[in-house]
Amino acid sequence: MLTSAAQLAAYGADGLGYKNYLPDAVVLPADAEELVRFMRGTKSLGLPVVMRGAGTSLSGGPVAVQGGIIVHTSALRAVREINAEGFWCEVESGVTLNDLDAILKPHGVFYPPDPSSGPVCTLGGNVASNAGGAHCFRYGVTSNYILGVEAVLLDGSVHRFGGPAGGRGPWREDWKRFMIGSEGTLAAFTRFWLRLLPLPEKVWTFRATYPDLRTTESAIHALVAHSSYPAAIEMLDPRGVAMVESSQMACGLPEGSFLLLVEIDGPAALVDARVAPVSEILRQAGALDVMFSEEDTIRKKLWKARKAAGGLLGQLSPSYVVQDAVIPKRALAEVLQLVYDEADAAGIRAVNVFHAGDGNLHPNFLFDSRLPGDLEKVERISKRLMERVIEVGGTLSGEHGIGNDKSGYMPLVFGPDSMRLQLAVPAAFNPAHQMNPLKVFDCRRFAS
Ligand SMILES: Cc1cc2nc3c(=O)[nH]c(=O)nc-3n(C[C@H](O)[C@H](O)[C@H](O)COP(=O)(O)OP(=O)(O)OC[C@H]3O[C@@H](n4cnc5c(N)ncnc54)[C@H](O)[C@@H]3O)c2cc1C
Repeated sequence: MLTSAAQLAAYGADGLGYKNYLPDAVVLPADAEELVRFMRGTKSLGLPVVMRGAGTSLSGGPVAVQGGIIVHTSALRAVREINAEGFWCEVESGVTLNDLDAILKPHGVFYPPDPSSGPVCTLGGNVASNAGGAHCFRYGVTSNYILGVEAVLLDGSVHRFGGPAGGRGPWREDWKRFMIGSEGTLAAFTRFWLRLLPLPEKVWTFRATYPDLRTTESAIHALVAHSSYPAAIEMLDPRGVAMVESSQMACGLPEGSFLLLVEIDGPAALVDARVAPVSEILRQAGALDVMFSEEDTIRKKLWKARKAAGGLLGQLSPSYVVQDAVIPKRALAEVLQLVYDEADAAGIRAVNVFHAGDGNLHPNFLFDSRLPGDLEKVERISKRLMERVIEVGGTLSGEHGIGNDKSGYMPLVFGPDSMRLQLAVPAAFNPAHQMNPLKVFDCRRFAS
């Protein structure tokens, strides 16, 4: 258990470093049994309980807004079983994504969800946020790969929803859907059974640049509509490209244009045959320049640049906020233009690096929370953006979750009846809202 001020300071924030809430204590259970014993005692402690994996959430998820105890799962790191023939594995909730990838690779299988925080983020955080990633355009998000969840409730009871046999075991398989994306408000996850896929035989990565938003959007539409069905369609705006090129991740991206990063994978003969049509689509849409490669070193460099972009943003300004709205792709250029116009008018830098194939925007607003008025400006722009997102038929979050950062926007999407129904779920698991209070719903306050 950690209690000194210096230790607790490390747990005050998540990926949105500008909001800080000090917990009263942090516990690091040595194993699942210790976590169960801890949970059993929490009712009598009368303090909020906040689960935490790596703390990379970008929505204010694993922070102790009402104080209380943070449970850090970093010791629950075992990959318990890999069943490559059955295409599943059993892992503890503190296993990091890239560690899992490395362990699975020699078995010829992989776990597709790939948030850019992979080097550190945990499966527990991924399941609780229903994380996505670049390759989720074709492969789907975390919920598509969870066969089973083991969860500990506040009374210390251990429940298994699903398992390696998916719905065919003696468990309430469907209830796992309540767990996925629950943002730490229902239970503490100790282990998961994950669905795996065979590693693709061959992969081609394309890089195409465009002069403006409209042509980039038309390239995205053409790609999405084509039967080559790319695994990933990612976009970096000129500001994102400039940021990468002035960093250690520089990889010769042409500056001053919008960049699409596209990937196709599958059986060698099939993907090889798709290289020409995909590059033709990118060109016909108005690309200034198209390059593609099957070479691992080139491909990895491009992906490293794309995946490091989020971290690089954190170095450009003292504070940043990233929104996670999803919009119908036909509104892409219009909504992005709104982001630039509103941010430029307010004197706030906005950089867009996001999952274009899914219409999952990530406008990053760079500011200084110490300067009077800066945060208010960012909040105003974010609200204006969210209102427009809802008007065009979009929604608040594609993969980061709501946390306490986006809970204020919930009434923009959900009416009182819908909110009441949604609130009934956490209330069934912990009626006093002791688990991760003030997350997802502003009214989920814990009265100790
Ligand atoms: C640079 C960067 C890039 C990112 N890129 C992506 C991306 O491409 N796609 C994406 O989806 N996200 C991305 N994220 C956001 C973040 O990494 C994901 O949400 C990730 O799933 C969080 O994992 P974590 O282990 O850090 O969880 P944390 O941040 O520690 O927690 C996240 C939520 O999960 C809950 N939780 C954690 N562990 C448990 C558990 N054992 N039981 C119950 N609840 C638990 C917490 O209470 C919290 O609500 C990015 C973040 C950064 C900083």
